[in-house]
Order: sequence, then structure tokens, then C-alpha cells
Amino acid sequence: MSATTPLDTSKLDPRKTDPDAVARQIIGKLTYQIGKRPDEARKYDWLRATTLVVRDHVMDRWFASGDRIAESGAKEVCYLSMEFLIGRLLRDAINNLGLSKPVTEALARYGVQLDMVELLEPDAALGNGGLGRLAACFMESMASTGVPGYGYGIRYVHGFFRQEISEGAQVELPESWLVHGNPWEFERRDATYEIGFGGHVTTVHESGKPARQVWRPAERVLAVAYDTPMVGWRGAQVNTLRLWSAQAVDPILLDAFNEGDHIGALVESNKAESITRVLYPADSHQAGQELRLRQEYFFSSASLQDIIKRHIARHGDLKTLHEKVAIQLNDTHPAVSVAELMRLLVDIHGIAWAEAWQITSKTFGYTNHTLLPEALEHWPIHLFERLLPRQMQIIYTINAEIIRHAAQEKGFNDAQIAAISLIDEGNGRRVRMGQLAFVGSHAVNGVSALHTELMKETVFHNLHELYPDRIQNKTNGVTPRRWLMECNPELTGLVTEAIGPAFLDDIEKISEIDPLADDAAFVEKFAAVKRKKKEALAALISERLAIQVDPNAIFDIQVKRIHEYKRQLLNIIEAVALYDQIRSHPEKNWAPRVKIFAGKAAPSYAQAREIINLANDVARLVNSDPVVRDLLKVVFIPNYNVSAAEIIMPAADLSEQISTAGLEASGTGNMKFALNGALTIGTLDGANVEMKDHIGDENIFIFGLTAPEVAQRRREAHSGRSIIEANPILREALHAISSGLFCPEAPSRYHGLISNLYNNDWWMICADFEAYWNKQRELDQLFAKPREWHSKAVHNTARMAWFSSDRSIREYAKDIWQAGPGAVA
Ligand SMILES: *Cc1c(COP(=O)(O)O)cnc(C)c1O
Repeated sequence: MSATTPLDTSKLDPRKTDPDAVARQIIGKLTYQIGKRPDEARKYDWLRATTLVVRDHVMDRWFASGDRIAESGAKEVCYLSMEFLIGRLLRDAINNLGLSKPVTEALARYGVQLDMVELLEPDAALGNGGLGRLAACFMESMASTGVPGYGYGIRYVHGFFRQEISEGAQVELPESWLVHGNPWEFERRDATYEIGFGGHVTTVHESGKPARQVWRPAERVLAVAYDTPMVGWRGAQVNTLRLWSAQAVDPILLDAFNEGDHIGALVESNKAESITRVLYPADSHQAGQELRLRQEYFFSSASLQDIIKRHIARHGDLKTLHEKVAIQLNDTHPAVSVAELMRLLVDIHGIAWAEAWQITSKTFGYTNHTLLPEALEHWPIHLFERLLPRQMQIIYTINAEIIRHAAQEKGFNDAQIAAISLIDEGNGRRVRMGQLAFVGSHAVNGVSALHTELMKETVFHNLHELYPDRIQNKTNGVTPRRWLMECNPELTGLVTEAIGPAFLDDIEKISEIDPLADDAAFVEKFAAVKRKKKEALAALISERLAIQVDPNAIFDIQVKRIHEYKRQLLNIIEAVALYDQIRSHPEKNWAPRVKIFAGKAAPSYAQAREIINLANDVARLVNSDPVVRDLLKVVFIPNYNVSAAEIIMPAADLSEQISTAGLEASGTGNMKFALNGALTIGTLDGANVEMKDHIGDENIFIFGLTAPEVAQRRREAHSGRSIIEANPILREALHAISSGLFCPEAPSRYHGLISNLYNNDWWMICADFEAYWNKQRELDQLFAKPREWHSKAVHNTARMAWFSSDRSIREYAKDIWQAGPGAVA
């Protein structure tokens, strides 16, 4: 479809959306596409037929969106992310297209339940956690707010691993989400690019002078595009998620094949395809392997070549790239793009260096996601140079210019220059990807107000001095379609009943339920919805784990990646202390609690694996102890993913957001919980700080050290010993864990974990224990007054609208991208 003959959807055979028509469409797919009669169809056949019908409804709108963007010449946003944790797509598409009723009714005619069909869809787990899920929420919000957006990433054959728990320990199993095919994606052979690695660079001379550099890679692989539609609210706009798959240039080496070396002939293709075979399972930690750098360059180069090709086709002139395209780097994983775009502009398209640098830095924006030193990406020079020799030269040239600018114009001294340099000279010589992304972008953002301030003070302190206008804040958000309307139709229904449906289109309007926090009848209905969602989670726990939990208890939930800084250990110690105290004082008026955990540990992260083991060991003993009965249960739900989160978030009374202050960049789990009416117990960290401002001090439960206090204690080489010795509740709990009470089969299993707390307490678990314990007891008291509790819960739902990713996207669009509705084309 070309821009001169826009698709007029009104002239198309209108795709009917009444239940009769939808039923005919589904039977049509079943018959002609799948080759089954309704009475022979199995549940997966219904899933496939339903998905294909919904996809047809998407197609018209997808074409129309593309045409609208092409016609208007609007600026496009390209979101480069190594991860898109999109989860299931069917319910999202059905909801956003308003097809829930007709599809439900159509399937019901054949005795098929839409809910059951939706559960069969594999969870597209192309990400680790928060960063990947943010990219997915942003794709949905770009489509919903009318920002023309392309997502660019990697089509991993194996997404994030599947977790099982065996004898208390994490076991990783491969995730094979593509085995039954993927009806959402379209392979685009016409969008295929060559990606080079290795080789050498030669200087071409003209009239005796060096004129340009030519890179001759030793290896080449192909990047092939696969497109998936990203449907916005009410189907008003459909954007594209374009994921790259690696293939060999010469899939079988014909010479080798003809000589009878059939295995050798396939070696090339195996090697090429390995680039997009697996997602690295490390979150907040750099995976330093060569294959990882290959993945980063592979998808960066493919995406940039595609962006350039599409730009030239539409606008003719590459020099206007920054006027028509904004490229956002989601963390430093695509930071090599800065050097690669320079190479493409200068070496391939013949643009002079200075102008290419202007175009490049005006095109890129960079989002930082972590300050943890172990997560900051840097690559050994020798590896970088061997794999990407021309990009390495370009980085040296950029670096020389930045250093010259800093020294000559800003008078930077040697220490300041060492801090801003793209090359870390002190550490075996490495390329610093954060510095590269920073200097190559016109805007650099943190993901919460606190995190952004800390960025200015820590990792980018000197770069911030050099470019004081570059850093800005864009607090994260979550899409209310998936994280309220789809996962909690009961609450959505209640809110609609109370204030009408306008909040569906403008989430800010949900604040109209705020006064109803004082309306006894409404609060009771709100509590009844919560109760229903807790019953559903209890049923899932019973079915999967054969543990019976009581929906009358506080559902106290911590679900997220397992990491020391997120402090699941603090929560488990509190559970052990509570267990201990209940056993010693069974006569006291304890509020019944179910402590629920879920989350995956990076396979190589020993301490995180130990924490999972401890949670499971504690669960085993506590759940079988008749003395505590229904007063305390501990549950670890295996294989946390987006679909699990959709069931868990609405069922929480209490949301645990207890990271060591200063270390959680934002968090988004905190937002999903609060939006669904959970109260938060948390530290002043990440977006919790802003949640407190919006929700009100009396409706959130904040405890513990602040970020400056944590930094101070770390400077003082704080240890836990004196704190433990002064606090009998903590001491007893640690002793119970250390003594092997929970693991008689391996009594010394947790010695190391506990002795670290005595000697070091790096994550401030001892330092924060007492404040945490006291805050929990305060919550026990509150839970005994359900009206008060649920009234606060209503305030949470009513006041969380600002944390919609629609708001985040509008801010990016206005302040960084200059794109979307309201931007001048
Ligand atoms: C929201 C979400 C996360 C992020 O959770 P945090 O608590 O912010 O770390 C991780 N994984 C999944 C599956 C999610 O849905």
C-alpha cells in the first residue's frame, strides 16, 4: 500500500464484529486453515483459529496506521531494546479491539470458553524482568496514545528459562515458545540485512590522501525481520514490533555438501543461528560473553540499517534523519548503535564526520536503568576490536573529541577526564557502554526522580558537569489496559459501575473513585472484589503446590527477580521471626498471614539461588507445623512470568517493595500492585518515593534507611553484629536459619548466608530489620479493621493513574522525541 493510495477502511468488506459473524470467521479458520471440523477440534485448534481471526481484525487497522504515518510524514519513534517481555497477546488484542463479547459468545456456541483458550497461549518471555516488561508496556502505550512507534529487538528461539523447584532448589528448563508456531508474527524476507563481524579495516586513498575507511568483515550473517502487531486501545493505532532472527548467508555450504561433508556443511548455519538462540538470563548483571556482544551488535546494526532504508524510501535524504526518527536506547545493550550509526552515515553514505555526529546525537536518547556497578556494561578492548574493528576506531575518534572539548573548553583535570572517557584505562582497558550511550545522545534519562538524582551524583557525575542539560527524569509506568482492565475485570467493572466508563479512555479519571473511600457500601464491594481475586490465587496455589491457604489471611506478596538488593532475604527473616514469635506466644492476637514469593534467580547467581532454597525450606517446615496452623503460611510459586503476575497482582493485600534504598531504579511491580488496591510496605526507593507523594503518607507504609543513610553506612563499613546482638527477635530468627532448623538434611546450608549478615550486612538487612518488623506489626493492627484497610486500598487505586505508561510515553514524546500527537510534522 503506497502513501498515494491510502487504504480507505470504510470501502473494505467490513469485517463484522457481531457474534454470528465472529463465529463464522472462527469456523472458517478451523476449516480452511487448520483442516478440522468443530467437533474434531482440540483446544489448541480453537486457540489458533481464534488468534487468526483476531489477527485479521488487526490487519486492516495495521495497514491503516502505516498509511496514516506515511501520509502525514510524522516523526517515528524507534525503541531499541534487547528485551520485550510481552507475555500473552490474545487477551490484549481482544480487549483493545473491543472484541471480548463477540468472541466469548462465538466460542460459547461450540462449548468453548474464551478464558480457557487464552490460557493455552505460550507466554512470550523475551525478557528477564522489569526492563523488558517496561519495553512491552511502552509499546502498548505508544499505540494507545498515538505515537508512531517501532519496537526493535531480538527474536530469541528460547526466551527466559522455565523455573521448576525440586527439593527446594531452582531448576532451569528451556523455554520453547515457538514449537507450535507463532500465529502473531509475519516473516519479512524483504527486510533482511547483512551483519558483519571481525576482519579488518583498510584506508582508501584518493589523490594521495586518506579518503575513507573500508571495513571488510571476516564473517557475515543475515538478520531477518519478524513483525508482530502492537494493538493500541480501541484499535485506533497498531504499531510494529520488529524482531530479528539470525540466519547463515549461505545456509548450507554447497561445496562441503557436495563433497559429502554433510555435517560440516551445516556448521556455518548453526553458528550463525546461535546468535538469536537464547536470551541471557542475567538481570542487573553484565553477561560478559562474546556471544552477548554479538547479539547486541547484531540487533543494533540490523535495526539501524532498516531505519535508514525506510527513511531514505520515505524522505530521500539521510541528513533529515533526526527530524523524522527518534531512536531510544533502552539501557546500554544497544549502545554500540552510536558507533554503528556513525559508521553507516560516514563510511556507507558518505556524510562528513561532523555532520554525521550532529545527526547521530540528535537522533538518539538513552535510558539508564541501574546504578549497580556490576550491571554497568563494559567490554575488553581486545574483544571489541577483534569483533568490531571499525566501530572501535570510531569510538576512539569520538573519545578524542569529547576529551578535547572537556579539557580545552571546560578545563577538566586528569581525574575528571578519566571519569568521562569512553575507555576505562584502570581496568584492563575496557569500552564503557554507558559513557558511549551518554555522549551519543541528546537526552539521557533515569526512570524515577530519586534514581535520576543519584545518576547525576554517581555514575554520570562528571558527564553531567560537562553536559548539565542532558540528564532528565522519566518515571516509569505500567499500562492500565493489561494491569487493570485485563487482569482485573471485576475491579474494572466495579469502577465503571461507580463512575462510568470514561476512565477506560483516560485513566486519570479513575481518581473520581477517591471520595468513595469513605462510602461504606463501595468499600465493601471493593473488598469483595479483592476477596474474589484472593480466592482465585488460593485455588492456583492449591492446584499447583497442594498448599491450602486461607483467603481471610493477609496476602503478603513479594514477586520479582531474586536479587540481594531486592531483599527477599529480609522478608524471609521476618517470616522466620514471626514463626518463632507465634510459637512462643500463641495466645497473642496475631493477624493471619500468607507470605507469597515468586521470582527467578540468574542461574549463575549463587546467593540468589540460596535465597530461593531458603524460602522453600522455610515454607516446608512452617506449613506443616500444627502450632501456627492458619496464622502463617509461606508459599513459593514457581516460574514467575507475566501471566503469573496477572493473577498475582490483583490478589495482594500487601505489596513488598523493600529494596535497599538507592538501589532500585524505579520498580514497576510496585505500580501494578497499588493500582489493583494493594497497600505497599516499602523503602524510600525508586518510584516508591513518588508513589508516596501521590497516594499520601497515610496510605503507604514506609520504613527503613534512606538512600543517603545507606551510602553513609557503607562508607563506615557497617556490619550487622551489634544490631543482631541487641535485637533478640532478629537474633533468634538468624540462629534458627543458621542452625539448620529448616534444612536438617543439610544443616550447614545457610551458614555463609547468615555469617555475611554478621560480618558485613552490605544490603542493610540487619540495619532495617527492626523498622520493618515494627511496620509489619502496625499492618497487623490495621488488618484487624477491614474497613480502614480497604478504604486505604481504594485510595491506592484512585491515586495511581499518574503511574500509567501513557503518562510516561507522553513525557518522552514531548521532552525527548518531539513526536506523537501535538508534535509538528
Ligand atoms: C512487572 C514485572 C517485573 C518487574 O517487577 P519489579 O518488582 O519492578 O522488579 C518483573 N517480571 C514480571 C513478569 C513483571 O510482570
